[in-house]
Amino acid sequence: MKIDSKRPELIFEEKKAIKLFLWIFLVTYIIYDLYWYLFIPAYTHAKTIKFPDGGFGYWRYFLIFFMLVISIFLIKKDKIFGVKYFILISYFSIDFLDTFLKYFHTSKEFASGHIVELFFVLFAPIFVNKKYFWITSLVVILKYFLLGVTLHTKMVIFPIVLIIVISGISYFLLMRFCSYIVSLTSVYEELKKKEKLAVVGQMAAAIGHEIRNPLSSLKGFTQFQHEQYPNTNDFYPIMIDEIDRIDSIVTDLMYIGKPKALMIEKTSIQEIITYTVSVSKQHADRQGISIEVKLDDQVPLIDGDEKRLKQVFINLIKNAIEAMPDGGKIKIKVHLFQGNQICISIEDDGCGIEKENIKSLGEPFFSTKTDGTGLGLMVTKQIIMDHNGSFKIQSEIGKGTKVDVILSIINKQ
Ligand code: ADP
Ligand code: MG
Repeated sequence: MKIDSKRPELIFEEKKAIKLFLWIFLVTYIIYDLYWYLFIPAYTHAKTIKFPDGGFGYWRYFLIFFMLVISIFLIKKDKIFGVKYFILISYFSIDFLDTFLKYFHTSKEFASGHIVELFFVLFAPIFVNKKYFWITSLVVILKYFLLGVTLHTKMVIFPIVLIIVISGISYFLLMRFCSYIVSLTSVYEELKKKEKLAVVGQMAAAIGHEIRNPLSSLKGFTQFQHEQYPNTNDFYPIMIDEIDRIDSIVTDLMYIGKPKALMIEKTSIQEIITYTVSVSKQHADRQGISIEVKLDDQVPLIDGDEKRLKQVFINLIKNAIEAMPDGGKIKIKVHLFQGNQICISIEDDGCGIEKENIKSLGEPFFSTKTDGTGLGLMVTKQIIMDHNGSFKIQSEIGKGTKVDVILSIINKQ
């Protein structure tokens, strides 16, 4: 997972980081220069204060100050993500020129370097940005490399080695920060999804409950009417079928966010598959679809809720049939998997699923069909999860879809 730096929370964090960075930069810079030019000369043998000479001299402070003013201006203008690069490039340009002017064509021994360079590399992880980290390390090394070449000195080797070591430590910190942020954001996404499900689930359960009662009276009266006048018309069986369809949609709706307790017992997956295929056969025949089943005889009984598992495979076969309006073939295979699991795969050669839709599968109400409810895969996923199982969907547009359901043989709740 990649960190999306444009998220509002992360923009806020970046703002905090850049402010902290500026403060620490300023304080480090001032303390180091006071120590070097005032404190050491004043309290050691020299006894005379050594002012910065050569290069830009005092103008260096003016340039750094000017750079900070522009940075604050950029922050105020909300150019948050560019500020750190601006500081990096402008500081090292000033520093390079200053050092170059100081040592070029002089016999002075090269002794350059400022503590803030280490600070740049060491604090790079606070921006949690790999690109910035690499650019910072390269800029600092490049500065010493260019100075070494132009001033013909080997004294740059030590700072370069030091920067490489500090970069290693810094990279380690950066990787920790990145993985921390990635797991925090995924927890946040998960929570948001769960919250949405809980609200929808409560609503669906309440509405479902209210619809159920009138629906069962309606079905009862329709059946009664049909029995009373069996030869009047053909609409009664259709009406009863449609009422059953509403009932199954309501049942699916009531599943959202509210998984039901399972009735786990020793169940034969072969029987479940044979049953679901026989139920779906009529629908498949009508569309010119053949269903091929390959059952491995070695597959033992599994701990599962028979009724719910039937629902899983009815949903999956229904989807496969609906993906092939012009006919085709469905292959169902059941085999042992890793010794203690079984894998049931359902493969069709239908329309396939768009890549960007794959991640939405199983979300309530996600459907690409005009008359779809988008509840089938949600219920399927929930039931499989309740069985501590997993499912995987592989699909290629125009070629077909393969769904693998993996269930444990032993599964005590
Ligand atoms: P519904 O079938 O009511 O649309 P589902 O939750 O069962 O809802 O499926 C969601 C979506 O997933 C479908 O609308 C379809 O786009 C896609 N889908 C699921 N199974 C398949 C499949 N075997 N082939 C192609 N698309 C599928
Ligand atoms: Mg479906």
